[in-house]
Amino acid sequence: MRKKIVAGNWKMNLNRSESLELVSAISKEMKDIDLKNNRVIVAPVSVNLASVVDSEKDNRIECASQNMHFADSGAYTGEVSANILKGINVNLTLLGHSERRAYFNEDDALLKQKVDAAIENNIEIIFCFGEELDDRKAENHFKVVESQLKNALFHLKENDWKNIVLAYEPVWAIGTGMTATPEQAQEMHAFIRNLVKENYNNTIAENVSILYGGSVKPTNAKEIFGKPDVDGGLIGGAALKADMFVEIIKAM
Ligand code: PEP
Repeated sequence: MRKKIVAGNWKMNLNRSESLELVSAISKEMKDIDLKNNRVIVAPVSVNLASVVDSEKDNRIECASQNMHFADSGAYTGEVSANILKGINVNLTLLGHSERRAYFNEDDALLKQKVDAAIENNIEIIFCFGEELDDRKAENHFKVVESQLKNALFHLKENDWKNIVLAYEPVWAIGTGMTATPEQAQEMHAFIRNLVKENYNNTIAENVSILYGGSVKPTNAKEIFGKPDVDGGLIGGAALKADMFVEIIKAM
């Protein structure tokens, strides 16, 4: 059975002490929440990852990297590899966030290399993808999403999918306050699940968690997460405040 997940992407925010303060506040505020079939994840900036991992002794909050390079090591100034992440007990990474695609030129071919490196190293991936506003206006959103998934993920073997979480994030909704309606999210999530079914099988499609990302707030989370194919969210802005993030966790 697939899990519900709320993941906070802290982006390039919070220094070490602010990061430790935030994770500790989240941990305190969610102490009575039953996480049996749910997961809570935070993705701090890479230099603070080890400190946040070490501070989270009871493992109720998992830590993810915001990015990962495809090479194991080498002359790639400023990057982190799977091996380096595993060395600090991080076994989870975001890949393909729209900001990485837009500002760091990460395209499908590069993402495919990163996906392969993560899978090879048994690192779980939260794979982000989604259309731009122009794609949606031109009614190309299904095509764009299909090609993003085909180009970077659909070469994987069936068994690799145990390490994949999908995060549909329409670019026009990220950090803009413009959220997809619950119906728009459900329509796309059902389409994505069906694509996985067509390219693999029903079991994999039913087991993969598909998160929605794009201006999720305590005020809209319950309605969006209430849709049958929405298995939680990837949260940006609202993940930086413990009370807001925990309200969103409660909505799942
Ligand atoms: C994100 O960065 O993945 C995101 C969804 O941001 P926000 O919640 O701020 O729109």
